Amino acid sequence: MENAKLTRRVLIGIVAVAALFSAVSAGCATVAPIGPGLPYEPNDREMRLWSAAGEASAKWRTGGAMHRDDGLREYVQTVLERVLEHDSRAYVPLDPRVFIVDNPKVNAFAYPHGHIFVHTGMLARLRNEAQLAMLLGHEITHATHRHAYQEREDATARTDVLAFASILSALGGGEIATAVGNLGQIVTVAAISGYSRQKEAEADRVGLLLVARAGYAPAEGAKMFQRMLDATDTKSRHFSPFYATHPKMKDRVKTCKRLAGELPPDVVTASLEIGRDRYLAHTAYLIDGEARRHIAQGRYDLALETLDFLRENVPGSANAAVLRGELYEARSARGDRLRAEEAYRDALKIDTSYAPAHKGLGFLLLREKENSEAVRHLRRYLELAPDATDADLVRQYIDRSAGKTAGKNGASSP
Ligand SMILES: [Zn+2]
Repeated sequence: MENAKLTRRVLIGIVAVAALFSAVSAGCATVAPIGPGLPYEPNDREMRLWSAAGEASAKWRTGGAMHRDDGLREYVQTVLERVLEHDSRAYVPLDPRVFIVDNPKVNAFAYPHGHIFVHTGMLARLRNEAQLAMLLGHEITHATHRHAYQEREDATARTDVLAFASILSALGGGEIATAVGNLGQIVTVAAISGYSRQKEAEADRVGLLLVARAGYAPAEGAKMFQRMLDATDTKSRHFSPFYATHPKMKDRVKTCKRLAGELPPDVVTASLEIGRDRYLAHTAYLIDGEARRHIAQGRYDLALETLDFLRENVPGSANAAVLRGELYEARSARGDRLRAEEAYRDALKIDTSYAPAHKGLGFLLLREKENSEAVRHLRRYLELAPDATDADLVRQYIDRSAGKTAGKNGASSP
């Protein structure tokens, strides 16, 4: 709870900072991007920004917020490499690298020196590798096109910088104020809150070009933003307002669709890859987690959409079938009890020794007073998961129900 409050305070601060940023960057001059065949002139002020970004990035990486799945991180890194045409050395002195933050909010951000942080909540929201490539293409463009540096240069007036610093100190603790010095915090806030509308549009345009060049289906770019839009729910603290509002997501979807149609034919390669299976091999467990959160928050439509997607694309997932059962039980609309029972039985068809399916079915049957079958499933659950945290509780239910069954039998027998 405390965390939620803190996050809200940080977000309010971010909105204020974002407004300040857009105000000072209106009508700015552009700087040359960094990339293949583009000579980069070292620049002191920019180097300071990068070194602050390096410190801020290191704070994140050692601060316990990172997701512990090196395989996933390496996979996302390979997608970034592909977006950069396996030529990240052409982007020196940038250091294009991906890190995964363990956080259910749908968000991602890039530091000016090329480190990209992607939330697990974002990966759970995406549906294929082409959409991930679009996200990474967008984020890395903020670095290659030196957006943070440009916005800093535009905010030359000292008063702006001071106003900035006071907003930051007002943010207090939380994820952002990790005491990396004012500049480090400014860089972090800028990276998380996004840039001016103009720079976001540039990141979308260049990102899409990188995605198409790498052989991914450019139509997935607009779909990626559409998924962010569909997830927008201001009531939920798990959905960061950033991707939904900066700039207006509906416009963004429209623009991306248009841009995908206008790509030069030599850029749109024949492969048009989507990479769904490869993506799911690495992220299905995060998508399961997303479905579970939707159910817990009563967002049944989103949960159902997620579970339908899993049923279609990861057909052998007993866990997804159990989640479907839990969704129907939680929703308890007309016909949901039967649907839930069917879902648990589906899970057992996929894997007869999947403990959570026996538990789900056992409790459902218990409520239906079908005690003997219920007890059979609950016993099987305990056999399969003897160390489960709810093992004692389940044992109590079994004793009570088995007792009732025995009592009934006893009363009716001569
Ligand atoms: Zn952006």
